[in-house]
Amino acid sequence: MITGGAGFLGSHLGARLLEEGHDILCVDNFFTGQKRNIAHMMGNPNFELMRHDVTFPLYVEVDEIYNLACPASPVHYQFDPVQTTKTSVIGAINMLGLAKRTKAKILQASTSEVYGDPEIHPQPETYKGSVSTTGIRACYDEGKRCAETLFFDYYRQHKVDIKVMRIFNTYGPNMHPNDGRVVSNFIVQALTNQDITIYGDGNQSRSFCYVDDLIDGMVRLMNSRDGFTGPVNIGNPVEFTMLELAELILKQTGSASKLIFKPLPQDDPMQRQPVIDMARKELGWEPKVSLEEGLVKTIHYFKSIL
Ligand code: NAD
Ligand code: UDP
Ligand code: UDP
Repeated sequence: MITGGAGFLGSHLGARLLEEGHDILCVDNFFTGQKRNIAHMMGNPNFELMRHDVTFPLYVEVDEIYNLACPASPVHYQFDPVQTTKTSVIGAINMLGLAKRTKAKILQASTSEVYGDPEIHPQPETYKGSVSTTGIRACYDEGKRCAETLFFDYYRQHKVDIKVMRIFNTYGPNMHPNDGRVVSNFIVQALTNQDITIYGDGNQSRSFCYVDDLIDGMVRLMNSRDGFTGPVNIGNPVEFTMLELAELILKQTGSASKLIFKPLPQDDPMQRQPVIDMARKELGWEPKVSLEEGLVKTIHYFKSIL
């Protein structure tokens, strides 16, 4: 079962697991998911779609749960912040209750946002984070932190087999054109000759992981040795500023779009980069696709849908 299976990451995960011969139940309420992302799997007898909101109980029989349901882009998770926290917290309780009853293994899509605006750089899993409880990002950050707490308490109290993955910024085909995240915004703006919107001075940094690498790490974590729970960072440690990202996208698209500067959103982290030693050691994983290569594929996708 993949919750959030019609979203950006969930749709790539579904395709990968179908290829491996699994039977997939895709659960999604289509808040940010798109039918376009899963259309190619709909005819497959091993793929089943259920429209359902994970904040409500769900009784099905499954043996592995990938819990990805939650809007990931600041624009979307801030649209209905109460629902965002409910999705992370009540969604986690329901999915953990389901895992407990069915004895399914369950993987949580957590996030680098649990580190907030980090005071140490790069971030290892041992870093406890610097998160505002009252800011506009808190519905997402604190919701995901509480979900991690629930995962570890169901593990200790009910012996649920958990895997917790802290995902760093990921990009690739199937991102929503209005997703609002930086890679999709810049590519859409470049391809449609609109101004490129840099928030702040553009010197803040992120580390961008191509989706195929990320999904490979996710599947490896689900299949990792018994008793390995994480939390484990999965992301690409190569760091770029938003100005560097904009220049790269302008070069690759050959666009004449101009850079314009807009105010930096509240609580926007200045920098973010994963330490991936644990993923290397426990999962034998590291990213293979450079930002240059990944952007070529992503630009190709956006050209095909715009
Ligand atoms: P996305 O918005 O494309 O996908 C999320 C999916 O969850 C959508 O299909 C949406 O309709 C569904 N959903 C939302 N609320 C739901 C609910 N209450 N019930 C059922 N379905 C619901 O985002 P994504 O980038 O694919 O992210 C997937 C997961 O990975 C999220 O949990 C996100 O927090 C996590 N994550 C992603 C990134 C990233 O860079 N993409 C980084 C860190 C963490
Ligand atoms: N739950 C669910 N599907 C199941 C089992 C449980 O959705 O197959 C939900 C149920 O609504 C419950 C939550 O998961 O509120 C937590 O389950 P748990 O067994 O931990 O708690 P309890 O039922 O004792 O509240
Ligand atoms: N950003 C930007 N222009 C945009 C969208 C985002 O400069 O059109 C910046 C944003 O302020 C942040 C970085 O890009 O510093 C990454 O933003 P995104 O929303 O993709 O992810 P997150 O902030 O959650 O890491």
